[in-house]
Amino acid sequence: MVLQIEITPLNQWMQGGGRPFIISGPCSAESEEQVMKTAITLAGIKEVKAFRAGIWKPRTRPGSFEGVGSKGLKWLRKVKEETGLLTATEVANEKHVFEAIKYGVDILWIGARTSVNPFTVQEIADALAGTDVIVLVKNPVNPDIDLWTGAIERIASAGIKRIGAIHRGFSTFEKTAYRNQPNWQIPIELRRRIPGLPIICDPSHIGGARKYIFELSQKAMDLNFEGLIIESHYDPEKALSDAAQQITPDELVEVLARLVLRNPDPADPKLLDTLGELRQQIDVFDDHLIELLEQRMQIADRIGEFKKHNNITVLQSARWDEVISKAVVKGKDKGLSAELIDAVFKAIHQESINRQIRIINKEMLNNNK
Ligand code: PEP
Ligand code: MN
Repeated sequence: MVLQIEITPLNQWMQGGGRPFIISGPCSAESEEQVMKTAITLAGIKEVKAFRAGIWKPRTRPGSFEGVGSKGLKWLRKVKEETGLLTATEVANEKHVFEAIKYGVDILWIGARTSVNPFTVQEIADALAGTDVIVLVKNPVNPDIDLWTGAIERIASAGIKRIGAIHRGFSTFEKTAYRNQPNWQIPIELRRRIPGLPIICDPSHIGGARKYIFELSQKAMDLNFEGLIIESHYDPEKALSDAAQQITPDELVEVLARLVLRNPDPADPKLLDTLGELRQQIDVFDDHLIELLEQRMQIADRIGEFKKHNNITVLQSARWDEVISKAVVKGKDKGLSAELIDAVFKAIHQESINRQIRIINKEMLNNNK
């Protein structure tokens, strides 16, 4: 699926805008002093184009700080007037949209807990019709690319042309080092589906801790994302929400200075020639991999016939554990990560099992037709 959506390129969103588009500011607006102090320092950082602050905060559990509400919009208007930064906040219903627009907020983002709900996204889209604000759609909390795509389509159908996506990672039941799993293949697939869609990475909510901000930001730049939204606070330890992941504006300067920005589109013919040759080699190996997979599956089918004949279950877990651990050891010897071997072999194994189950139950499935 490839969707043709009319999207204004990011470098035309504002004067002097370009890659990487940096949005920064506190998780939540807490007081006029906190907002102004943070914004004035951020405005001194040339890469920072927009100031973020949550006014209405969706909290996982009740009883936490739920944002200052509409009174914080005046502070955002003051930021805009006094610093010239664009302002950005989260909207989760129609009322938020009307209020934010009334106070001149330039960028509205739809949070991860809202983009899961097509009713709410449609309500927001209807409220946006006829306006020309910038809208950024965060990925839904669950790794569902169709929901993410659908939310973007709804906003685009309301006539919004300066539209982008924010990749903030996906929640999992298991505790992992990062607060939210990045699943980088999902935003990459989103960009394939919606050509020209700017994607902004949110390393603060992916990592959930200050120490991960640089590595995640660099990874996003290497994947050619258009920008970063990074939470910052003049005194992060005292933040009323997401204290562990906010950095000071000074730390933001360091992160930005360390980032290596590589060339997304080399024009030099020599570079392109070399890249072309290497890519041809990759294509040859990819064809090879497909042939090998075909051959491997043919053997799996023969095993399926054999198990059927001898009334043996498809899955023998001990055999499978042995296959994976042997492959991980061999892969390690060849410099291949356990993560790669595990993912590839699990996918191959699943396919073998599916085919064997189909073979074993062929007659039964046919009889059911
Ligand atoms: C936020 O940006 O502060 C926020 C609540 O983000 P998310 O919707 O990604 O959890
Ligand atoms: Mn936050």
